Amino acid sequence: MITIKTPDEIELMRKANQIDRDCLLMLEEHIKPGITTKELDKLAYDFITKCNAKPSFLGYGGFPASICTSVNEQVVHGIPSTKVRLEEGDIISVDCGTIYKGFNGDAARTFLVGNCSDEVKKLVEVTKQSFFEGIKILKAGVRLGDLGSAIQTYCESFGYGVVRDLVGHGIGKDMHEDPSVPNYGKPGHGMRLQTNMTIAVEPMITMGTYKVWQLEDGWTIETQDGKPAAHYENTIWIKEDGVEILSL
Ligand code: MG
Ligand code: MG
Repeated sequence: MITIKTPDEIELMRKANQIDRDCLLMLEEHIKPGITTKELDKLAYDFITKCNAKPSFLGYGGFPASICTSVNEQVVHGIPSTKVRLEEGDIISVDCGTIYKGFNGDAARTFLVGNCSDEVKKLVEVTKQSFFEGIKILKAGVRLGDLGSAIQTYCESFGYGVVRDLVGHGIGKDMHEDPSVPNYGKPGHGMRLQTNMTIAVEPMITMGTYKVWQLEDGWTIETQDGKPAAHYENTIWIKEDGVEILSL
């Protein structure tokens, strides 16, 4: 179901998303060679609960942690583990979800661990920029195909893959609401965005094939060719004349 938010609801979403953003900024300080993804998860849990919010991922469909930590060829939904210790040159995508007074925040960043290759840095940079390339055309009345096409065209111009199997989404009282918000599409196609919708836009971009599969843990999504992937996500508020990013 598509939900249109009231001004009061938008303010609660803003608060949830600010906690989410601040949690990711806090985690960035700790992302260094030697830390385990389980340690990052504990830091996130403590931070979010201290802000009087709830980590929305914890227990969602049985997910066992407060954040998703996806390293290198892992695209999304990686499970924090004591066995995954970050190494120099890795990249790690951290996806974080919060609930504040019944409303959701959702944001993700890909971080560099120490010194990374120029090739990998470029992937991370382009993935982030593709989000901004997509949203700069957004306002009420714009179609989802225009957004998807803008992100896809930008990323493919660098020879990157745009993941098809996972997409962005509406967000509000539920983390995942309608509509689905693909990072690919055709201009002039798809639903028109409406004023006071809130959506999560989240390009998942790969260095090789866009094809992904799920690991046997039932969660982790990895590229089929083992090449690195990056993820960048914010929750945004659709306005009459543009958008506001709630998680920046
Ligand atoms: Mg997310
Ligand atoms: Mg999301």
